[in-house]
Amino acid sequence: MDLFNGPEGLEDLRDKVVAGDRLTPEDGLRLFQSRDLNGLGALADFANRRRNGLRASYILNRYINYSNYCILSCQFCAFSRKKRDNDGFQLTEEQMVAKAREALALGITELHIVGGLHPSLPFSYYTGFLRALKAVDPRLQLKCFTAVEILHLAWLARKSVRDTLLELKEAGLESLTGGGAEIFRKEVRSKIATGKESAEEYLAVHDTWHALGGRSTCTMLYGHVESPEDRIDHLDRLRRQQDRSGGFTGFIPLPYQPDNNRIPVRHGPSGFDQLRTLAVSRLYLDNFDHVTAYWVGMGLKMAQIALSHGADDVHGTIVEEHIFHMAGAKSPQGTAERDLVRAIREAGRIPVQRNTFYEAIRVWDKTEEAPTSGQMAAAPATSAPASPEAPIPVGLA
Ligand code: SF4
Repeated sequence: MDLFNGPEGLEDLRDKVVAGDRLTPEDGLRLFQSRDLNGLGALADFANRRRNGLRASYILNRYINYSNYCILSCQFCAFSRKKRDNDGFQLTEEQMVAKAREALALGITELHIVGGLHPSLPFSYYTGFLRALKAVDPRLQLKCFTAVEILHLAWLARKSVRDTLLELKEAGLESLTGGGAEIFRKEVRSKIATGKESAEEYLAVHDTWHALGGRSTCTMLYGHVESPEDRIDHLDRLRRQQDRSGGFTGFIPLPYQPDNNRIPVRHGPSGFDQLRTLAVSRLYLDNFDHVTAYWVGMGLKMAQIALSHGADDVHGTIVEEHIFHMAGAKSPQGTAERDLVRAIREAGRIPVQRNTFYEAIRVWDKTEEAPTSGQMAAAPATSAPASPEAPIPVGLA
């Protein structure tokens, strides 16, 4: 196959991409309608390699859900619980610190922390655990909270979003997570996440955080009741936000998981649709540096294939995942660093361990053996937890 044929019948779009011209929403829709996955993937791979070369990244991270109690009841959510439920949980600061200490011993550089909108915990609980986790090791990067959690915390603190973010930042928050974007269009949002913040509110939280110098990721939950038009509308709003504030480090498309929820869709997106969505995202989001193949939702085998369909990142070791697994994800809870390194290498890419901000911590030499023992090999001396202020030297191949 000749890359420069591009997807069949879409040679004009291939020419636009090669020339670096911006795709219109109509162009995006035509890409979504294409059945030529190989042509689409090759064009997205071209766009990715022009930006990232042959490097593909992963992160040593650990998820912590502080609680699954939530005052909302999003229809797609299998994670949230009410106080009357007998399988709800909330962690104490001490329990979170214990998880952070365990993670640190494994070489983890990032804690990724989200939870439900808890009905009664005070604002001081959140600033308290941020401070306590930072005290474990100041180099441990704290990526926490979705936009709707920030709105909830602002309400708790009785402060503006900006002042709330400043207070959280002062306590140790380093990045917002991208969760909660779902699908922006109101008609879809009301079918899958009634009561959740609007698209405008989601984007305003990220905009405010970016204006404070913060960075965040963003997501799209796809493969349920939305149409290709809804997906393009979603990508277009993210692209416009990125033009305005420039603070998104990466985009993470999340394949819908169909179990234990109230949406009448019994299957997640097919493999074809997952790869196509990644490829279109890479091509449409021309102002994003990174697109992640989220192995928890896709499985590591699909995420590996996605590396030749526009993705340049496979996310991280995770260790303990609740949200996707309570919704039926069949992937393991976490994965070992060696498996991520091998998957990337076998796909013909250069594995790069990254930090929260997608900065390289370690670039794997071709001849270096991936770690062979343990759930997760302890990171080498050069891959200690990084902070953007103190970049870790890169051991270049
Ligand atoms: S998706 Fe988030 S906000 Fe919605 S019910 Fe679940 S935990 Fe609550």
